[in-house]
Amino acid sequence: MQLLDGKVASQAIKEDLKIKVAQLVTQGKKTPHLAAILVGSNGASETYVASKVKNCAELGFKSTLIRFEESVNEFILLDKIRELNEDKDVDGILVQLPLPAHISDEKVINTIHPSKDVDGFHPESAGKMMQGLPTFLPATPYGIMLMLEHYNIDTKGKHAVVIGRSNIVGRPMSVLLSSNHPQGNCTVTITHSHTKNLAELCRNADIIVAALGKPEFLTADMVKDGAIIIDVGITRVADASKKTGFRIAGDVAFAEVAPKASYITPVPGGVGLMTIAALMRNTYNACIAKNEAEEED
Ligand code: NAD
Repeated sequence: MQLLDGKVASQAIKEDLKIKVAQLVTQGKKTPHLAAILVGSNGASETYVASKVKNCAELGFKSTLIRFEESVNEFILLDKIRELNEDKDVDGILVQLPLPAHISDEKVINTIHPSKDVDGFHPESAGKMMQGLPTFLPATPYGIMLMLEHYNIDTKGKHAVVIGRSNIVGRPMSVLLSSNHPQGNCTVTITHSHTKNLAELCRNADIIVAALGKPEFLTADMVKDGAIIIDVGITRVADASKKTGFRIAGDVAFAEVAPKASYITPVPGGVGLMTIAALMRNTYNACIAKNEAEEED
């Protein structure tokens, strides 16, 4: 079994970006600028946004964190996004999900201009991804593709089972794994809460991507020998032995599945770190595209 180490793979991507940003500075060009919006004070969201801001600083990106109270009016939030769309200095905009129930995720996502959609959630980005056109790929599935690329994993012709069909993880993951790409060309089965024979499907899988949000759901009896296991799940589970009162659990029962796997991602230290690296790469690409468009003007 080989660990797919998110620390190692994300560091390689970030080192590359750091060098590229230093070159932009030398050339007197604009450096990437990510604007992040956080609504309310959900503990996990606070942690994710803080980590994104920290990563920006490490890479030489500029970042702006905009906070709103949990009770913010949807109109005010959408107006802020429109203002950021117009702001020439901002390259990428992300709104940390989940949002409070009175705010429509859909309206928020659709309001972000596709040229600044570094989370890759806008329907225009999703449509382009479906057709294999250049676009911003959603950060988590993109990060997983970068992880597979980093470890030079041959996916061609393999049977991949994706557990979960959300717009941000499962569904785009199934599209990318089935696409004509060095880390694609899989035969993909996408599964969800209504799938009847999940354990059997998983036992026939060469690659399993677990993205359902149920701690330690994927057990050893669901996995064939030599399978590649990608654990996307992040759930806070109460744990009195921790200072925080919780531990982070993935969707895979790591201790029992790892001995059967050929490759496996840990949680934490796996896909989460790749998601941030992918977001950073999207933001860098957004900045480059904008710099080029301005030079052509
Ligand atoms: P979601 O709740 O939007 O979707 C979960 C999906 O799992 C649904 O499509 C549902 O049909 C499916 N599902 C639920 N129970 C199932 C079952 N018993 N069998 C088969 N399918 C089942 O969740 P999401 O936003 O896609 O996130 C999934 C998990 O990944 C969560 O733990 C989330 O925190 C985590 N996540 C991690 C990262 C990261 O960077 N590592 C990024 C995004 C999400």
